[in-house]
Amino acid sequence: MKHSIYKIGTFALGLTFGLGLTSCNEPKKTTATEVTEEEVTDKKPTDYLAIDLTNLDTTVRPQDDFFMYVNGNWLKKNPIPASETRWTSFSEILERNREILKRVAESAVNNTSASPTSAEGHVAAFYKSGMNEEKREELGMKPLTPHLEAINKATTLDEFLKVTASQKAVAGGLFRVYVTADEKNSSTNALYLNQGGTSLPKAYYETPDLKEKLAAFEKHVVNMFVLMGENEETAAKKAKNVVAIETALAKVSRTPAERRDTEKNYNKMSFAELQKLSPNVNWKAHLSDVGLQDIESVENVIVGEPEFFTGLSKILKSNSLEALKDYQKYQLASSFANFLNSDFEKEAFDFYNKTMRGQTEMQERWKLVLNVIDRSVGHSLGQLYVKEAFSPKAKERAEIMIKDVRAGFEDHIKGLEWMGEDTKQQALTKLLAITTKIGYPDTWKTYEGLELSEDNYAQNVMNANIWRLKDNLAKIGTPVDKSEWHMTPSTVNAYYNPTSNEIVFPAGILQPPFFSEHADDAVNYGGIGAVIGHEISHGFDDQGSQYDAEGNMNNWWTDTDKEQFKEKTTSLIDQYSEYIVLDGIKVKGDATLGENIADLGGMAVAYDALQKAWTREGKPENQDGLTPEQRFFVSWAQIWRVNFTDEELRNRIETDYHSPGMFRANGPLSNFDPFFTAFDVKEGDKMRREKQIVIW
Ligand SMILES: [Zn+2]
Repeated sequence: MKHSIYKIGTFALGLTFGLGLTSCNEPKKTTATEVTEEEVTDKKPTDYLAIDLTNLDTTVRPQDDFFMYVNGNWLKKNPIPASETRWTSFSEILERNREILKRVAESAVNNTSASPTSAEGHVAAFYKSGMNEEKREELGMKPLTPHLEAINKATTLDEFLKVTASQKAVAGGLFRVYVTADEKNSSTNALYLNQGGTSLPKAYYETPDLKEKLAAFEKHVVNMFVLMGENEETAAKKAKNVVAIETALAKVSRTPAERRDTEKNYNKMSFAELQKLSPNVNWKAHLSDVGLQDIESVENVIVGEPEFFTGLSKILKSNSLEALKDYQKYQLASSFANFLNSDFEKEAFDFYNKTMRGQTEMQERWKLVLNVIDRSVGHSLGQLYVKEAFSPKAKERAEIMIKDVRAGFEDHIKGLEWMGEDTKQQALTKLLAITTKIGYPDTWKTYEGLELSEDNYAQNVMNANIWRLKDNLAKIGTPVDKSEWHMTPSTVNAYYNPTSNEIVFPAGILQPPFFSEHADDAVNYGGIGAVIGHEISHGFDDQGSQYDAEGNMNNWWTDTDKEQFKEKTTSLIDQYSEYIVLDGIKVKGDATLGENIADLGGMAVAYDALQKAWTREGKPENQDGLTPEQRFFVSWAQIWRVNFTDEELRNRIETDYHSPGMFRANGPLSNFDPFFTAFDVKEGDKMRREKQIVIW
């Protein structure tokens, strides 16, 4: 829901899983209560290796390609499983973590005394319904029927819009609406409208080398209409309507790079102004139909992309009602294909996973269901998960590292040659004001009023979606709850939230190879330490630096310093824009700028934080022929190890704000002096840039 959170990695489905501290080779525990905290935290797994030397490819010179030197053999040993589109450090954690979540879910199912409204009750009902394939086949497309009938009944544009409003939570479509902190008044929640309504990334409708994918999309839409009961000919006509409308929406949408311009994407206006901008929708009535209570008391709306809403208004007027209905039917069916019978599920898989992302086999049922539970009632699943998989000791260690990394960042700000004293003071104020969250929320959502049954999976997903939208819209005008989490505890990821000026690390990321209680500081600072540095750096990247210590979009820079910063970030865009991903396709240096700034700053600051830890605790001896400094850099490079399918990589170039892993590893190092010293990288070596960039 939150649109302006900067994560360390993105996942295609937006669903991720974390890792428990038990090793994958340890015997499976059957219930959460069987594992005492001591067992979970203190036992060093016999097969644990912070750095596994057999992953290195020593035929590659570290001075030529450090990523391949560190990960070359790992890449060979770890081909992408048929049920995945990439294989990474994140995936390894995810896989181990899924086993924990499965045990947690099965244990909830077996606990017959759990109340249906408890966390266990939610997980049990959802899991049972998702695993009941027989029932899903029997229901077929029935869960969609009332919604399709509602679309059929519309006889005017106004009636059509009313139907789309009532289906917002279940079908999405046309545009996005949500409530979150006002970026210029960060303590109060405001109403946001953003572009949306397309099934594919914008580039797929417009780029010549992706034409085949668009054709495959149209064929998929035909198949979906056939599954909904249309004959081939009618289905083909309807599919043309859907593709035409989506192409028109894509045309008036901004590119990912354009959406990163913070000021340009903040357009606060009155409803009268919105109405003028986008006249063919009665916005007050429409948003009220979507579920916004007491619309008359809402004074303003923050529109991300005004020209999109003008375009949307025209598209609604210029298309026939029949075409619009076809569009809405596809949005609905597409949103629910994965929860209906196997024909729908397979059709969606064949296009979205196989054609678009190169995945050849569907994931096992239980994994898919757990993904959905995490997204739908993540706080219920998360509560059960952290009981088994989170250690207070990990939290303690993380807190020490955050302290060191923050101190490292402070040194960096003070030492910057390009920044004047006034701006430095402001930057330091912001740095010290950053708050942290580790592990899981203090209070859990209870999903009050959410109805779940044990035998209707699709309906459960719909109910959960409706609950979430209602919960979100109810926040309009209320003070921002700064204790709220925007990721579930089992997520293998982390984020910086600019409007709260906070860094957040779910339990899921505090796992090897990012972090281990059994690893030495060099490895932990090169892993989770750099992740901490990355998230802090987001507060000072090209977007984050536009928010002040209180999380308000508010300029705290002198003009001269801002110019210097701009010059440096422009050079960084140029550096990354040279990286070739696939034949003729390069990294989008502008779209990935914020993440690249965070990688560059995060790694450098973590390195200095490590020096602080060594000063305090003593510097260790060499291990396995690697100096402690070298171990830091090896750890950094190994967290970015990744194999991609070509389709996945191509897709990510158009959608992911992060550079692919190989460039995340090598890019920052090629600008970093201590790395050159540690691995004797000389002038002229590929890993050493002629013109190095230091921003933070
Ligand atoms: Zn990030």
